[in-house]
Amino acid sequence: MSTVIESEPIVTSGGTSVQDDVDRFMRGVVERSPNEPEFHQAVHEVVESVLPFVMDHKVYQEHKILERLTEPDRIISFRVAWQDDHGQTRVNRGYRVEYTNAIGPYKGGLRFHPTVYQGLLKFLAFEQTFKNSLTGLPMGAGKGGANFDPKGKSDGEVMRFCQAFMTELCKYIGANTDVPAGDIGVGGREIGYLFGQFKRIRGTFEGVLTGKPLEFGGSLIRPEATGYGTLYFAENMLEHVGDSMKGKVCTVSGSGNVAQYATEKALDMGAKVVTLSDSGGTVYDPDGIDREKLAWVMELKNVRRGRISEYVEKFPKAEYRAGARPWDVPCDVALPCATQNEVSKEDAETLVKNGCKVVSEGANMPSVPEAIDVYMKNGVLYGLGKAANAGGVAVSGLEMSQNSLRLSWTREEVDEKLKGIMKGIHQQCVEYGTENGKVNYAKGANIAGFKKVADALVAQGVH
Ligand code: NDP
Repeated sequence: MSTVIESEPIVTSGGTSVQDDVDRFMRGVVERSPNEPEFHQAVHEVVESVLPFVMDHKVYQEHKILERLTEPDRIISFRVAWQDDHGQTRVNRGYRVEYTNAIGPYKGGLRFHPTVYQGLLKFLAFEQTFKNSLTGLPMGAGKGGANFDPKGKSDGEVMRFCQAFMTELCKYIGANTDVPAGDIGVGGREIGYLFGQFKRIRGTFEGVLTGKPLEFGGSLIRPEATGYGTLYFAENMLEHVGDSMKGKVCTVSGSGNVAQYATEKALDMGAKVVTLSDSGGTVYDPDGIDREKLAWVMELKNVRRGRISEYVEKFPKAEYRAGARPWDVPCDVALPCATQNEVSKEDAETLVKNGCKVVSEGANMPSVPEAIDVYMKNGVLYGLGKAANAGGVAVSGLEMSQNSLRLSWTREEVDEKLKGIMKGIHQQCVEYGTENGKVNYAKGANIAGFKKVADALVAQGVH
């Protein structure tokens, strides 16, 4: 007989320690959402920070806020059938996790990658809840995507896939209901095809997607925003302890959207970037990846859609390490900008051993929990993804504002607003995360992000 597992009143005052209550809560989450390890990991990280705060605020216990926030509003899953260049019919699975619209329309990116499944998108949508809240903009949380691999596909195939995906998704989204954006495998090209199909079917020209090209409603600085924001956050953390990014040696993972603009902003700040990577391996360039080399990487990745291994053919003084990640290269600042769980405990120990002082996460949940413990024990300034990479969704929020106003702001205006938002996030982390004179950014971000959504849920009644 199949059973529906109801959420029990999980927060108790009967546990002998906070850890008991965290463990009890997590057992309930795992039971209700089995086989979703990334979701469990993301929830655990938040609950560890937030549970003591919930214990101190009875209203959140009474209204079962944590229990409610560990169930998404809804999950839509659908078949995506499309034809490849050989006329063969191909079938993928598409999703949209509409997590919460407590503080604004559902908002969060679409990921096209073979590893996409429900649990991965639930983790990303859960993270998005706190991240979007931290920006101070009126955005709820969602995430979607498909187990489609754009690598090696022609433009025509990507277009037909995007059209088939949007043919179903368009029933659920809209400028005031749910506003998707890009993520891994979904950049300007895909957003263009998706937007075209939405318009064709629904017949309205509206700000239903962000990350649009400039010609039809995109915002200046949106492509740059996540990477730039990650560096603004690193600079804010360093300023808080009387230091700066100037002269720092940085290791960057990934070579996609976030990694490229993190590198660009690091250079603007007078830092030196010595690595980039992709799922094949890492390039280490001891001379530094300067603007000219970065421009070459952008052309390689965004136009030719090549592999980072080609870097050493063009710049032979650099070294390519097949299958390796960048974390054994000595650095002051590590910038994980590729994917989840890309920094292991051993990687974190190596970073610390080599003198790394700052980790600012462009990617979502790139550090495993044991790696975070290593940062904490060794006093590394740790800017977790939901704070440090919130610049992307923040400028998506600004794109929504501009679409509603039917106006476009200048590059300088958007960049100033982005800097202000990242500073505001940093301040919230300081306010809620300072312990014994030091800032625990993970705690601060989780509590500040939680509080706003929780207060909205309380005010809106049981639903
Ligand atoms: P892109 O698709 O542009 O680039 C992703 C990069 O990460 C590529 O270099 C890719 O290499 C690498 N990568 C992906 N999966 C793996 C893997 N399993 N192992 C090693 N490398 C991998 O994506 P984005 O730059 O947009 O996103 C990067 C990260 O930033 C993600 O975690 C995303 O969720 C997060 N993020 C993105 C935002 C945005 O605005 N785009 C906003 C906030 C967070 P390869 O080509 O070989 O797959």
